[in-house]
Amino acid sequence: MRKIAILTSGGDAPGMNAAIRAAVRKAIYCGMEIYGIERGFAGLINPSPWRKMELSSVAGIIHRGGTILHTARAPEFMEKAVQEKAAARLRERGIEGIVVIGGDGSFRGAQALDVLGIKAVGIPGTIDNDIYGTDSTIGFDTAVNTVLDALNRLRDTATSHGRVFVVEVMGRHNGFIALAAGLAGGAEVILVPEIEFDLDQICRRLVKGVRRQKTHSIILVAEGAASAFCVGAQIEQKTGLETRVTVLGHIQRGGSPSAADRLLASRMGAAAVDLLREGRGGMITAAKGGAIHPVPLLEALTAGRAFPADLYELALILSM
Ligand code: ATP
Repeated sequence: MRKIAILTSGGDAPGMNAAIRAAVRKAIYCGMEIYGIERGFAGLINPSPWRKMELSSVAGIIHRGGTILHTARAPEFMEKAVQEKAAARLRERGIEGIVVIGGDGSFRGAQALDVLGIKAVGIPGTIDNDIYGTDSTIGFDTAVNTVLDALNRLRDTATSHGRVFVVEVMGRHNGFIALAAGLAGGAEVILVPEIEFDLDQICRRLVKGVRRQKTHSIILVAEGAASAFCVGAQIEQKTGLETRVTVLGHIQRGGSPSAADRLLASRMGAAAVDLLREGRGGMITAAKGGAIHPVPLLEALTAGRAFPADLYELALILSM
């Protein structure tokens, strides 16, 4: 394979730039041409120019969050006719393979291109860590560290004033960020969409804590589990404890990627190019047991990532 393309799609994630850099430099090292498509799948179908990437195109980006290729949500790419048009445009330019960096939605787009004969490799780039087959996705570690940093700061105030802090984090469909940051940050309560919770029981725990001189508590809520404002208001009403609510929002998406995310992105970017060189489309790059392995795109799309119930159990025990 001599000519390939690369795009980033869906929500941006810290480390996407490091993955672009690795894929571009590995491709050039292997004597391939690589084209950068801007704004995800939208850039494949709109008449925007495709940039031939050079070594210098990816200079000075390894430490930057976001994505130099920009990203977009392009719902029209779900239509077969639009996918066929995109595949035809790629073929016209002699492009035989594509690297798609994004989450599961982006992987559906990649799979569609693969079926149409453009070999596609997905790189899991999403702060959600919701992709089957890989221990971690690019951006998750940075997002968890961002939440952790916020928790450390909020805990200072919570302790000083003796308050209950309810902190809402990203995770519309899963509680991976809440669980990892809650466990690492010693949150007293973690609410995730995967596990039902009983607010009365939580209130009883908080009051019990106060009785044994506990000065503050942090409740971490994944946005898909409940609204932090509702949880805060109900706790205040049921217990009389002074409560403050913080919604972390989009600060969780940006920022300079952590060392772990840069390493993961560098390895996955290079591995994606290797797969295309071998003509192995229809795969994602996945981290397992310290190595990067290919996992079939279809498997990654259908299997679904299991919630680590053992970690949740551990968080419950440690927050007693
Ligand atoms: P994140 O996890 O950060 O939200 P994502 O990749 O899951 O990332 P989505 O918005 O679900 O984000 O999808 C990104 C893009 O992928 C969509 O805007 C669309 O262009 C494409 N896409 C999503 N679903 C499909 C599908 N079923 N078929 C083809 N393309 C799709």
